[in-house]
Formats: sequence, structure tokens, C-alpha cells
Amino acid sequence: MIIGIPKETLSDETRTSLIPSSVKRLTDQGAEVVFEAGLGLRLGIEDSEYIDAGAKVSTDRDQLLASADMVLRLRKPALDEIAKLKKGSIHISFLDPFNEHELVDAFAAHQITAISMEMIPRTTRAQKMDALSSQASLAGYAMVILAAERLDKILPMMMTPAGTISPSRVFIIGAGVAGLQAVATAKRLGARVDAFDTRPVVKEQVESLGGKFVEIDLGDTGQTEGGYAKALTPEQIELQRLGQKKVMAQADIVITTAQLFGRKAPIVVTTDMVEAMKPGSVIVDLAVESGGNVEGSVAGEEVIHNGVKIIGLTNMPGHVAMNASQMYSANLHNLVLEYWDKEQASFDLKLDDDILKGCIITHDGELVNDMIKNSRA
Ligand code: NAD
Repeated sequence: MIIGIPKETLSDETRTSLIPSSVKRLTDQGAEVVFEAGLGLRLGIEDSEYIDAGAKVSTDRDQLLASADMVLRLRKPALDEIAKLKKGSIHISFLDPFNEHELVDAFAAHQITAISMEMIPRTTRAQKMDALSSQASLAGYAMVILAAERLDKILPMMMTPAGTISPSRVFIIGAGVAGLQAVATAKRLGARVDAFDTRPVVKEQVESLGGKFVEIDLGDTGQTEGGYAKALTPEQIELQRLGQKKVMAQADIVITTAQLFGRKAPIVVTTDMVEAMKPGSVIVDLAVESGGNVEGSVAGEEVIHNGVKIIGLTNMPGHVAMNASQMYSANLHNLVLEYWDKEQASFDLKLDDDILKGCIITHDGELVNDMIKNSRA
């Protein structure tokens, strides 16, 4: 089986899909790996390192796409690249399948089996392939470091002969994988950390990291079977904003990571809440790429409103590209090797397997994923 690894094409993408150690894991199992020249250059990885790992280099991207039985990459392909893929091949990457209808339909039309990394189920068996978690964890860390750098104060308490500096206050809204890592990072830097999430189970997790859980009574919130947050009613979201406003007024840094799986992110911070903050405070909105948690945040920009810096930088895991690539690369090789048939030296596409059933979007000319089908109904 030929596994093709094209370069990432987005100009702001600093990560790479596979690093040489993962390639070696695949070639050791008999996979024929072909990579596009320059694959790891943004991380300082030379082509020779991939070649030493047993892969072949290609300078012809179209030929690489046309000959691969399986394509591994990080970002979704451009629409016009789908027609270049080999009929019946497997394509694995992030796909944004809830929103990318045209892309998904093109995969089906060209008889490609498209596997979406966002749709890997959040189960114990799938943890090693869970790219949402690996990237969110690093994003949580990177957000705090970025906010700390943009704040004109320090995070820890400091006692000096010239006086005592009190610790900065960090408020994390949304404490899933990214938010919990943000709690841990801000605590390690010495800040006082408050956090809120609509899923009540999160309270204990925040407290175990040394954060204080902000109690806001929203009535019944709960979570979906998959562990994701449910959307709040307009009344509940209003109560949430009211409850958060006091905490925000005292905070130096607010980090928002609130997401609703497959849907637009909720606005959890409105302009009046931003205006209640002290000038010089910093907000980082991780959800900016899926609609934004903060009124007035702009993707790819830092906006200043009433002296408050609202940071909407995109691709937060890309700020720590080396580790993010290591983790994503491991997620990919774990996924491929989980279903690798060493004798046949090929990927065994078990359509009834729980994990694959969750993340295969198109197969045999059809949209086959129930969740995506239902979202379109
Ligand atoms: P996510 O990125 O979908 O959302 C981030 C957080 O935002 C979540 O904690 C969610 O509850 C919260 N949120 C949504 N609306 C909000 C609002 N209005 N206000 C404040 N917070 C709000 O979440 P995630 O980090 O991808 O985690 C999703 C679920 O998957 C969690 O239950 C997590 O524990 C679970 N998970 C399980 C595994 C595993 O078992 N293998 C691995 C990773 C995550």
C-alpha cells in the first residue's frame, strides 16, 4: 500500500502532518511511504530524515496524490485536489465535515473514503488517535503563554524589598481539554485561577488542578452521550453572562474555549462584559475560528476595546508547532497501525469498527456518517 504525504499548503500552517519517527513506524510495517519534498522544512526537518526513515521523496505533488492508496495530511484538501486523488483511496485529515458540505460531497463523488480526524470518538480505546485532544491540550498551554506575554503584569505573586506584587487573576471559560490545560498552565505560572463550564462534572477537574470553579446556577445543563456540552437556552446563556461579569471585572486575563460540537461556538462574553474589565486586561478567544466566544473578536487579529486586548489569533496549536506536529503525527500513525494488516501490508478498512464507524465520512460513493447525515437533515 502506498501512503502519500503531501505538504501543508496554508500559508499560516506551521505544523506538519508526519514527522520522521512516525514514518519509520509505518515503513517498519511494510508501508511504502512517499512524501512531498520539503514536508518538514518549516520545522527544520530535512528530506533526508524522512528518507532515512524509509520513505521516498517526490517533487511531483499531483503524481503523489494520484498514486497514493492512502493520503495522510493535517488540513483539509482544497476542493480541486479531490479530483486528483486515486479512486477508491483513503484520505485522512481534519475535514470540518459539519460545515464543508461541498468538500464532503466531492469526496463521495470521487469514490474516496474520507476519514475525519475531528470525528474520532472520544473513547478510551481511541485516545491515542484523538487529535482534537492532542491539539487542544497544546492550544490551552499556548493561550496562557500568549496572554501572559501580552499582559503588562506578571502572573505570580512577588515579594520584593520594594513591595509586594499580588498574583494576576485568570478566568477560564470552558474547561474541556484546552481549558483544563489552561488552568494548569496559569496555576504553574502562579496566577489565581477561576474557571467555569456548563458541564457540572468539570468542577472537580478544575479543583484538582488548583483552580476555583465559579458556581453559576443555570438549572439543567448536562452533556450529550458523547460527553459534549449541550447548547444553552437564551435564558441560561443570559444567566451565565450575568454570573461571569463580576469575575471578569476582577480578571487580568480571560481565556475562552467554549465549544459546541459540530455547531457555532456560543457567545459567552458580550461587549458590556468586556467594558467591565480593567484597561490593560487581555482576552484570548480560542473559539474565534468556529464563530467566536467573544463579541468583537476577529480571527487572526488583536483588537483593543476600551483598553482591553481581545486576541483572536488562529491556529493556536501552531504556536507550538514542533510539539503539535509530534502529537498529530503520533495520532495519525496510531490510527493507521491500529488497522494495519502486516501480512498484506495494507490498511484493513473495518467498516463496522466503532472508531472507524465514527470517523469515516464518505465511502463507496456515499456520505455514510450518521452524525453528518443527521446534521444535514
Ligand atoms: P469542546 O472543545 O467541545 O468544548 C470545550 C468546553 O466548552 C467543554 O468543556 C464544554 O463543556 C464547554 N462549553 C460549551 N458551552 C459552554 C458555555 N456556554 N460556557 C462555558 N463552557 C461551555 O470540548 P472538549 O475539550 O473537546 O471535550 C469534550 C468532551 O470530551 C468532554 O466531556 C471531555 O471530557 C471528553 N473527552 C473525552 C476523552 C476520552 O475519554 N478519551 C478525551 C478527550 C475529551
